[in-house]
Amino acid sequence: MGKHDNLINGTWVSFDNYKDNVNPSDTNDVIGSYSYGDAGSVEQAVEAARAAQSAWADSTPQARYDLLDAVGNALAARKEEFGRLLAREEGKTLAEGIGETMRASQVFKFFAGEALRQVGDLQASVRPAVDVEVTREPVGIVGLITPWNFPIAIPAWKIAPALAYGNCVILKPADLTPGCSHAIAELLQENGCPPGVFNLVMGRGSTVGEAMVTHPDITAISFTGSVGTGNHIAEVCGKMKKKVQLEMGGKNPMVVLNDADLSVAVPACLNGTFFSTGQRCTASSRLIVEAGIHDEFVAEMTRQMQALKVGDALDPETQIGPVVDEKQLKSNLDYIALAKSEADEVIGGERLDLDKPGFYQAPALFVGTDNSMRINREEIFGPCASVIKVADFDEALAVANDTEFGLSAGICTSSLKSAREFKRRIEAGMVMVNLPTAGVDYHVPFGGRKGSSFGAREQGRYAVEFYTTVKTSYVFAG
Ligand code: NDP
Repeated sequence: MGKHDNLINGTWVSFDNYKDNVNPSDTNDVIGSYSYGDAGSVEQAVEAARAAQSAWADSTPQARYDLLDAVGNALAARKEEFGRLLAREEGKTLAEGIGETMRASQVFKFFAGEALRQVGDLQASVRPAVDVEVTREPVGIVGLITPWNFPIAIPAWKIAPALAYGNCVILKPADLTPGCSHAIAELLQENGCPPGVFNLVMGRGSTVGEAMVTHPDITAISFTGSVGTGNHIAEVCGKMKKKVQLEMGGKNPMVVLNDADLSVAVPACLNGTFFSTGQRCTASSRLIVEAGIHDEFVAEMTRQMQALKVGDALDPETQIGPVVDEKQLKSNLDYIALAKSEADEVIGGERLDLDKPGFYQAPALFVGTDNSMRINREEIFGPCASVIKVADFDEALAVANDTEFGLSAGICTSSLKSAREFKRRIEAGMVMVNLPTAGVDYHVPFGGRKGSSFGAREQGRYAVEFYTTVKTSYVFAG
């Protein structure tokens, strides 16, 4: 355990306030103490980024490639160490932590390549002897605000494109999980990131985050987190004419039709619903099941859910790690209590007392629910899912779309016709056929519709839209 400082202008800056980073699998295990910056720290970071911005925007694609590729390689080489840190601070299982670290590595390496592949358009003008060029430029200083649930992958998929396209960065990770972001900052520093190009300011959203969102010199904000905070950030950025990208909640539907193969459907539902302790914005929380397969599905889902091993994230036998903290566990338990008054039956969902003091919860299935219930309208963000019985495909589709969210959606069916119809008519940014709603590739766009997302998509080549601005130049050569 030691003190972990903010990184500002290429220097680790000590501060008055630090906060302990506590392991949710074992609250006696303190990972370290991490700086609790304030608005003044943001001001220093902005000053450093302002001084570095123009040189970084003019840096060669090769220089950006080299930095991002080196960080990607280092993440892969140290995946066990970072996977373990992730499991300790967030509570994902060690296997999930290592998998997420590898994802971060792949993201850095993908955007290393994108730094070399930047293209523009050269077009003929509608006027004689005039050429028109459309080129992309960095947006400037970008503020990245990240949540606790993917503490290495989400910072990676914001930092890597921001740097690849020539922007300077200020990152504020979630207060609950600063460790992985601090580790990425160390890698950037060790691999020659110029001072001021990447700055880490840890601290509370209400102070550090708010100071970033309202700072006039931070020209763009990329945020992932809750709907409430996202709406507030959108309002402030709208007033300030600041570019903004928001990834928020989901109430993702997974449809299971009568013709589904249960040996595919149940594992897909189990994974999408409970893995990563259900703490994924793409988790399946509404299992919409056609009447003919409903009882068999519920019986098999219950059997497999009850066989899942909940435990310490570092225990190799654990399949479901702890909930991230006491506040989130209390919120889950409140929803489970609500489910007892709304659903016909609640299976599982109790708080578990294991060997170590941690935030353990048995996965929960709410059976006999309808889509108007609060448990089916609000994001719970824990290992809990509802089953909603429907008469046919049309009702399944209508229920799936009857939500304010639109992030991910899935269908399990052996009918190509139903799968095609679902893909076309579902109001979601991502759609899965015979696959869990969670678990995506890193080289294609990520994001949703309706209340789930706002602004340009993240990841893959689509990330260029947010992290660059377009310039149209006209040249008369007559
Ligand atoms: P928040 O939206 O509060 O947090 C996300 C990030 O925003 C954190 O870094 C947070 O800082 C920061 N933040 C908070 N307030 C402000 C502000 N005024 N200005 C700028 N930044 C701010 O979500 P929580 O982590 O509190 O989680 C609450 C709920 O959000 C969960 O129960 C879940 O339902 C949902 N959630 C959804 C996620 C998703 O991927 N869709 C991810 C995480 C949460 P700080 O760490 O200090 O709070």
